Amino acid sequence: MLELRAITAGYDRRAPAVRDASLTVAPGEAVGLLGPSGCGKSTLARVAALLHRPDAGTLLLDGTPVRRWRHRAPREKRTAFGVVFQQPRLSADPRLRLTDLIAEPLRATGRREAVPERVAELAGTVGLTPDLLTRRPHEVSDGQLQRACLARALVLRPRWLICDEMTAMLDASTTAALVAVVEDYRASTGAGLLAVGHDQTLLHRWCDRTVHWDTVTSAPTGAARPQPKRMSRP
Ligand code: ADP
Repeated sequence: MLELRAITAGYDRRAPAVRDASLTVAPGEAVGLLGPSGCGKSTLARVAALLHRPDAGTLLLDGTPVRRWRHRAPREKRTAFGVVFQQPRLSADPRLRLTDLIAEPLRATGRREAVPERVAELAGTVGLTPDLLTRRPHEVSDGQLQRACLARALVLRPRWLICDEMTAMLDASTTAALVAVVEDYRASTGAGLLAVGHDQTLLHRWCDRTVHWDTVTSAPTGAARPQPKRMSRP
Protein backbone atom coordinates (compact mmCIF):
# COMPACT_ATOMS: atom_id res chain seq x y z
CA MET A 1 0.00 0.00 0.00
CA LEU A 2 1.22 3.47 -0.90
CA GLU A 3 -0.27 6.04 1.45
CA LEU A 4 0.33 9.77 1.41
CA ARG A 5 -1.04 11.35 4.55
CA ALA A 6 -1.42 15.09 5.01
CA ILE A 7 1.61 15.88 2.85
CA THR A 8 2.84 19.45 2.67
CA ALA A 9 5.70 19.98 0.24
CA GLY A 10 7.26 22.46 -2.12
CA TYR A 11 10.23 24.65 -2.83
CA ASP A 12 9.71 27.43 -0.30
CA ARG A 13 8.46 26.57 3.17
CA ARG A 14 6.60 29.88 3.41
CA ALA A 15 4.53 29.05 0.31
CA PRO A 16 4.29 25.27 -0.17
CA ALA A 17 3.18 23.98 -3.57
CA VAL A 18 1.25 21.16 -1.89
CA ARG A 19 -0.68 21.59 1.34
CA ASP A 20 -2.14 18.81 3.40
CA ALA A 21 -2.62 16.32 0.55
CA SER A 22 -3.70 12.73 1.16
CA LEU A 23 -3.91 9.91 -1.36
CA THR A 24 -3.75 6.12 -1.29
CA VAL A 25 -2.85 3.60 -3.99
CA ALA A 26 -3.41 -0.10 -3.28
CA PRO A 27 -1.22 -2.81 -4.83
CA GLY A 28 -2.54 -3.57 -8.30
CA GLU A 29 -4.66 -0.45 -8.35
CA ALA A 30 -4.46 2.29 -11.01
CA VAL A 31 -5.25 5.71 -9.60
CA GLY A 32 -5.48 8.79 -11.80
CA LEU A 33 -4.76 12.17 -10.26
CA LEU A 34 -6.43 15.01 -12.15
CA GLY A 35 -5.93 18.71 -11.69
CA PRO A 36 -5.11 21.94 -13.47
CA SER A 37 -1.56 22.81 -14.45
CA GLY A 38 0.52 24.16 -11.60
CA CYS A 39 -1.69 22.91 -8.75
CA GLY A 40 1.05 20.68 -7.31
CA LYS A 41 0.40 17.24 -8.84
CA SER A 42 4.00 16.68 -9.95
CA THR A 43 5.35 17.75 -6.60
CA LEU A 44 3.08 15.27 -4.82
CA ALA A 45 4.01 12.54 -7.32
CA ARG A 46 7.69 13.23 -6.66
CA VAL A 47 7.11 12.91 -2.92
CA ALA A 48 5.34 9.58 -3.53
CA ALA A 49 8.29 8.33 -5.64
CA LEU A 50 10.79 9.29 -2.89
CA LEU A 51 12.26 12.00 -5.13
CA HIS A 52 11.20 15.02 -3.07
CA ARG A 53 11.24 15.26 0.71
CA PRO A 54 8.01 16.71 2.11
CA ASP A 55 8.00 19.46 4.73
CA ALA A 56 5.25 17.74 6.71
CA GLY A 57 3.04 14.67 6.58
CA THR A 58 3.72 10.96 6.29
CA LEU A 59 4.38 8.60 3.40
CA LEU A 60 3.67 4.99 4.30
CA LEU A 61 5.01 2.21 2.13
CA ASP A 62 3.30 -1.06 3.01
CA GLY A 63 2.51 0.38 6.41
CA THR A 64 6.04 1.55 7.18
CA PRO A 65 6.70 5.30 7.35
CA VAL A 66 9.35 6.51 4.90
CA ARG A 67 12.03 8.52 6.69
CA ARG A 68 14.51 9.21 3.90
CA TRP A 69 14.14 10.53 0.39
CA ARG A 70 16.28 10.70 -2.77
CA HIS A 71 19.76 9.20 -2.53
CA ARG A 72 19.35 8.81 1.24
CA ALA A 73 16.41 6.41 0.81
CA PRO A 74 17.34 2.73 1.13
CA ARG A 75 17.95 1.15 -2.25
CA GLU A 76 15.16 -1.44 -1.96
CA LYS A 77 12.67 1.36 -1.38
CA ARG A 78 14.00 3.58 -4.20
CA THR A 79 13.98 0.73 -6.68
CA ALA A 80 10.39 -0.17 -5.76
CA PHE A 81 9.38 2.83 -7.90
CA GLY A 82 9.47 3.30 -11.64
CA VAL A 83 8.89 6.88 -12.68
CA VAL A 84 8.13 8.38 -16.09
CA PHE A 85 7.99 12.15 -16.52
CA GLN A 86 6.31 14.38 -19.05
CA GLN A 87 9.39 15.56 -20.90
CA PRO A 88 11.72 12.71 -21.84
CA ARG A 89 14.46 15.10 -22.92
CA LEU A 90 14.73 16.51 -19.41
CA SER A 91 14.99 13.08 -17.83
CA ALA A 92 17.40 11.44 -20.29
CA ASP A 93 21.17 11.95 -20.28
CA PRO A 94 21.82 13.27 -23.82
CA ARG A 95 25.15 11.41 -23.99
CA LEU A 96 23.68 7.95 -23.51
CA ARG A 97 22.58 5.69 -26.34
CA LEU A 98 19.05 4.42 -25.76
CA THR A 99 20.37 0.98 -24.87
CA ASP A 100 22.50 2.48 -22.08
CA LEU A 101 19.64 4.71 -20.95
CA ILE A 102 17.42 1.67 -20.44
CA ALA A 103 20.25 -0.25 -18.76
CA GLU A 104 21.23 2.60 -16.41
CA PRO A 105 19.28 1.35 -13.33
CA LEU A 106 20.66 -2.17 -13.79
CA ARG A 107 24.24 -0.90 -13.88
CA ALA A 108 23.62 1.44 -10.94
CA THR A 109 22.41 -1.48 -8.84
CA GLY A 110 25.20 -3.88 -9.81
CA ARG A 111 23.19 -6.08 -12.17
CA ARG A 112 25.34 -5.71 -15.28
CA GLU A 113 25.01 -9.36 -16.24
CA ALA A 114 21.26 -8.87 -16.75
CA VAL A 115 21.71 -5.96 -19.18
CA PRO A 116 21.73 -7.62 -22.64
CA GLU A 117 18.74 -9.86 -22.06
CA ARG A 118 16.65 -7.37 -20.14
CA VAL A 119 17.28 -4.48 -22.56
CA ALA A 120 16.42 -6.64 -25.58
CA GLU A 121 13.25 -7.86 -23.88
CA LEU A 122 12.10 -4.38 -22.86
CA ALA A 123 12.97 -2.82 -26.22
CA GLY A 124 10.56 -5.29 -27.76
CA THR A 125 7.94 -4.56 -25.14
CA VAL A 126 8.00 -0.79 -25.71
CA GLY A 127 8.40 -1.06 -29.49
CA LEU A 128 11.99 0.08 -30.06
CA THR A 129 13.79 -1.59 -32.95
CA PRO A 130 17.50 -2.55 -32.57
CA ASP A 131 18.67 0.31 -34.84
CA LEU A 132 17.03 2.86 -32.51
CA LEU A 133 18.80 1.42 -29.46
CA THR A 134 22.20 2.58 -30.73
CA ARG A 135 21.06 6.17 -31.21
CA ARG A 136 21.38 9.04 -28.76
CA PRO A 137 18.39 11.13 -27.59
CA HIS A 138 18.88 13.90 -30.19
CA GLU A 139 18.68 11.27 -32.94
CA VAL A 140 15.21 10.03 -31.99
CA SER A 141 11.72 11.53 -31.68
CA ASP A 142 10.06 12.49 -28.39
CA GLY A 143 7.85 9.41 -28.68
CA GLN A 144 10.81 7.08 -29.23
CA LEU A 145 12.68 8.63 -26.33
CA GLN A 146 9.64 8.31 -24.08
CA ARG A 147 9.43 4.62 -25.04
CA ALA A 148 13.03 4.26 -23.82
CA CYS A 149 12.20 6.18 -20.61
CA LEU A 150 9.30 3.82 -19.94
CA ALA A 151 11.57 0.82 -20.53
CA ARG A 152 14.06 2.33 -18.06
CA ALA A 153 11.25 2.76 -15.51
CA LEU A 154 10.32 -0.92 -15.85
CA VAL A 155 13.82 -2.40 -15.99
CA LEU A 156 14.06 -3.15 -12.23
CA ARG A 157 10.50 -4.52 -12.14
CA PRO A 158 9.10 -1.89 -9.77
CA ARG A 159 6.09 -2.53 -7.56
CA TRP A 160 4.86 1.01 -8.05
CA LEU A 161 4.70 3.06 -11.23
CA ILE A 162 4.41 6.83 -11.15
CA CYS A 163 3.53 8.28 -14.56
CA ASP A 164 3.60 12.06 -14.42
CA GLU A 165 1.91 13.36 -17.59
CA MET A 166 3.72 10.55 -19.38
CA THR A 167 1.79 10.99 -22.62
CA ALA A 168 1.24 14.76 -22.65
CA MET A 169 3.77 15.32 -25.46
CA LEU A 170 2.85 12.27 -27.50
CA ASP A 171 0.54 11.56 -30.43
CA ALA A 172 -2.53 9.36 -30.03
CA SER A 173 -0.98 6.15 -31.30
CA THR A 174 2.16 6.43 -29.13
CA THR A 175 -0.05 7.32 -26.15
CA ALA A 176 -2.15 4.20 -26.72
CA ALA A 177 0.97 2.05 -27.14
CA LEU A 178 2.62 3.27 -23.93
CA VAL A 179 -0.56 3.00 -21.86
CA ALA A 180 -0.92 -0.59 -23.15
CA VAL A 181 2.67 -1.36 -22.07
CA VAL A 182 1.97 -0.05 -18.57
CA GLU A 183 -1.28 -2.01 -18.35
CA ASP A 184 0.34 -5.25 -19.56
CA TYR A 185 3.08 -4.77 -16.99
CA ARG A 186 0.54 -4.17 -14.23
CA ALA A 187 -1.53 -7.17 -15.26
CA SER A 188 1.50 -9.46 -15.15
CA THR A 189 3.08 -8.12 -11.95
CA GLY A 190 0.28 -6.62 -9.84
CA ALA A 191 2.09 -3.28 -9.63
CA GLY A 192 0.18 -0.22 -8.46
CA LEU A 193 0.01 2.93 -10.60
CA LEU A 194 -0.33 6.61 -9.90
CA ALA A 195 -0.99 8.39 -13.20
CA VAL A 196 -0.88 12.17 -12.98
CA GLY A 197 -2.44 14.30 -15.67
CA HIS A 198 -5.00 16.81 -16.82
CA ASP A 199 -6.56 14.68 -19.59
CA GLN A 200 -9.77 13.55 -17.94
CA THR A 201 -10.83 11.28 -20.82
CA LEU A 202 -7.52 9.44 -20.88
CA LEU A 203 -7.30 8.98 -17.10
CA HIS A 204 -10.91 7.83 -16.81
CA ARG A 205 -10.31 5.24 -19.51
CA TRP A 206 -6.92 4.19 -18.14
CA CYS A 207 -7.44 4.04 -14.37
CA ASP A 208 -9.62 2.11 -11.94
CA ARG A 209 -10.28 5.31 -10.04
CA THR A 210 -9.59 8.98 -10.70
CA VAL A 211 -9.36 11.59 -7.99
CA HIS A 212 -9.42 15.32 -8.51
CA TRP A 213 -6.82 17.49 -6.86
CA ASP A 214 -9.49 19.39 -4.94
CA THR A 215 -10.49 16.22 -3.10
CA VAL A 216 -6.89 15.30 -2.34
CA THR A 217 -5.82 18.53 -0.69
CA SER A 218 -7.57 20.79 1.77
CA ALA A 219 -6.09 23.90 0.14
CA PRO A 220 -7.77 25.62 -2.81
CA THR A 221 -5.95 25.51 -6.15
CA GLY A 222 -4.53 28.27 -8.34
CA ALA A 223 -5.02 31.93 -7.66
CA ALA A 224 -7.30 31.24 -4.72
CA ARG A 225 -4.39 29.70 -2.80
CA PRO A 226 -3.70 31.77 0.33
CA GLN A 227 -0.56 33.85 0.04
CA PRO A 228 2.00 33.70 2.82
CA LYS A 229 1.62 36.41 5.42
CA ARG A 230 4.09 39.25 5.02
CA MET A 231 5.39 41.48 7.76
CA SER A 232 3.65 44.82 7.51
CA ARG A 233 5.91 47.82 7.14
CA PRO A 234 6.17 50.03 10.18
P1 ADP B 1 1.50 20.43 -11.65
O1 ADP B 1 2.20 19.13 -11.76
O2 ADP B 1 0.12 20.30 -11.09
O3 ADP B 1 1.55 21.23 -12.91
P2 ADP B 1 3.80 21.25 -10.03
O4 ADP B 1 3.90 20.35 -8.85
O5 ADP B 1 4.71 21.03 -11.17
O6 ADP B 1 2.27 21.30 -10.53
O7 ADP B 1 4.02 22.75 -9.55
C1 ADP B 1 3.37 23.30 -8.40
C2 ADP B 1 3.96 24.65 -8.12
O8 ADP B 1 5.31 24.53 -7.74
C3 ADP B 1 3.92 25.61 -9.32
O9 ADP B 1 3.64 26.90 -8.85
C4 ADP B 1 5.33 25.51 -9.86
O10 ADP B 1 5.71 26.71 -10.49
C5 ADP B 1 6.15 25.28 -8.59
N1 ADP B 1 7.38 24.51 -8.86
C6 ADP B 1 7.44 23.30 -9.48
N2 ADP B 1 8.72 22.86 -9.53
C7 ADP B 1 9.48 23.82 -8.93
C8 ADP B 1 10.87 23.94 -8.67
N3 ADP B 1 11.76 23.00 -9.03
N4 ADP B 1 11.28 25.06 -8.03
C9 ADP B 1 10.40 26.01 -7.65
N5 ADP B 1 9.08 25.95 -7.86
C10 ADP B 1 8.61 24.87 -8.49
